[in-house]
Amino acid sequence: MKRRDLMRGFIALGGCAVCAGLARASEGAHWEYKGEHGPDHWADLDKANAACSVGGQQSPINITSAIKAEVDPITVSWKKSAGKMVNNGHTIQVNMPEGSSITRDGKVYDLLQFHFHAPSEHQVDGKAYPMEVHFVHKNKKDGDLAVLGIFIAPEQKHDVFSMLAKNFPQKEGAEVQLDAFSASDFLPKGLEYWTYEGSLTTPPCSEVVTWMVARQPISVEAVSIQAFTNLYPNNARPVLPLNRRLVLMSK
Ligand SMILES: [Zn+2]
Repeated sequence: MKRRDLMRGFIALGGCAVCAGLARASEGAHWEYKGEHGPDHWADLDKANAACSVGGQQSPINITSAIKAEVDPITVSWKKSAGKMVNNGHTIQVNMPEGSSITRDGKVYDLLQFHFHAPSEHQVDGKAYPMEVHFVHKNKKDGDLAVLGIFIAPEQKHDVFSMLAKNFPQKEGAEVQLDAFSASDFLPKGLEYWTYEGSLTTPPCSEVVTWMVARQPISVEAVSIQAFTNLYPNNARPVLPLNRRLVLMSK
């Protein structure tokens, strides 16, 4: 399947903001994680990607200090449901049917999709985890995005991740319809988190994302991580300066 057809397919699938971002960028310019189409050049590839270089609120970041604050807990209402897993040429992404959401500060964000990065995009005190999963949510009314990032470390078996890993579509453009599974199995035991205002970590790097990064990692089997890195050994954007932003931390 040609890249452009693939991206049209994405829009048809759910029209999510991140996918739409990918679609716009891919229609204008192909991008990658290294070389002349790599992160240092994303802004040069397409005018629509200007924020990738001139933006002051870019993601990911290295979390080195945070202010303890009365941030609202995240209420997660993810239903057991079937998704469609796609190899989109940048990551493995699972597009989710309607019906799952999170609520924070009284605002509801619908779950659109989740996808993986290796190594983790966010860092803690300069250290990356082997992987990070991003659960992308969108508020219906204003289009604001809320992304929950969860670090993944290798340790014990994780049934859902193993199931996904065994079914990762190997070729760009390939997709797999999944049986119903519980995305909540990806949540750590406690949902203490860091939060800051940032951007998409892929072109066009739009600064429309409230980031929530869980402080506790989850663990999966090392062999499952390898199944991902065999496909995508490095699909993490390097960290960007915090600039004048604050990182808040739930108590
Ligand atoms: Zn991501």
